[in-house]
Amino acid sequence: MPARILGCVKLYEYQAKEVFASYGLPVPKGEAASTPQQVEEAARRIGGRVVIKAQVHVGGRGKAGGIKLADSPEHARDVAQQMLGSTLKGFVVKYVLVEQALPIDKEYYLSFTLDRDSQNIIGICSAMGGVDIEEVAASHPDKIVRMPVDIAFGPLDFQLREFIGRAGLDGSKSREISAVVKKLYDVYVSTDASLAEINPLVVTADGRVIVADAKFDIDDNALFRQKKLEVYKDASEEDELEAEAHRRGLTYVHLGGSVGIIGNGAGLVMNTLDIVNQAGGKPANFLDIGGGARAEVVRNALDMVLLDKEVKAILINIFGGITRGDEVARGVLEATATLDVRVPIVVRMAGTEAEAGLKLLEGTKLLPAATAVDGARKAVELARSAA
Ligand code: GDP
Ligand code: MN
Repeated sequence: MPARILGCVKLYEYQAKEVFASYGLPVPKGEAASTPQQVEEAARRIGGRVVIKAQVHVGGRGKAGGIKLADSPEHARDVAQQMLGSTLKGFVVKYVLVEQALPIDKEYYLSFTLDRDSQNIIGICSAMGGVDIEEVAASHPDKIVRMPVDIAFGPLDFQLREFIGRAGLDGSKSREISAVVKKLYDVYVSTDASLAEINPLVVTADGRVIVADAKFDIDDNALFRQKKLEVYKDASEEDELEAEAHRRGLTYVHLGGSVGIIGNGAGLVMNTLDIVNQAGGKPANFLDIGGGARAEVVRNALDMVLLDKEVKAILINIFGGITRGDEVARGVLEATATLDVRVPIVVRMAGTEAEAGLKLLEGTKLLPAATAVDGARKAVELARSAA
């Protein structure tokens, strides 16, 4: 499934829609705003019923109270008053998008991303849109349809028809949907995107096909040739925790869950995110302390993870190669002695000096785990019982 982790510039929905619209994709009439006054004025200009959408770099806003309807400009102002400055899934809401509300009839899922296995760009589509696509993938894998695209030709008309047909989308809207798929592919390729996603793509009661939500990540290695998109880089780092991590020189991505994660090596940390997810938890962050991490680095990392007030438990997963277990253990102990540690910490270590490291942790409050999976289960359990 589309991942958004490292090496990408994340655009807010309103920015993604700006770019999508410039490629001819149909987006609702809307304006971004950062004060209740601006929201009221925008709602007045847009007219009629509006939807107020919190702009944060995390999905599932609807369920978390970040998507609200308003019947009048005054009502829109009240909603914005509540929403702006509040915390949504661990992110402070600084902007909202005010949009014309849609009379939704059907909600579809559509995205383009890179499929590393087949080394192709791949289109993904589902008639079960609007909900978390990971959930659909788990509960109805047959409802998710893929279309590998040959980069030399782009998606061909017969492929598009087959793609849309196979996914079971509204046949009477096939032409409009095809146009959307083509344009989304254009955006994806032209901007060096790593993910271009529409969820939901809406068919309205009056038969229009509209991009109701947009997620858009650009490969930051390509920014040198995407000058127009460079303006989005700063906003992408606007997350306060990520900005702080950046200042501290840490490789950190804020993910919004409750299990704080520290590991060494990007691959190991990503794998740790996966197993925490599999154990039913939600990772709060990605944090790679790299190879050869000394005590001071561990301390810095732990302090960083603790800045996130949503964190209810921490999992430290270290595979010792260059990184020595005893160094890590010393760092953790030093950190816990000097920091205000308000959550339980589970430590899993393997490899170089792991035993020495675990020995150092004996008799302390730190909870050793025999394996990464065991550690993930423990941390998830602890985070859950603290919530
Ligand atoms: P997300 O929850 O962060 O993915 O935000 P979405 O923009 O996808 O909105 C979540 C859900 O809100 C959609 O799937 C719709 O079912 C619902 N919704 C209700 N009215 C509207 C509307 O006027 N516009 C949009 N975009 N969503 C609406
Ligand atoms: Mn959505």
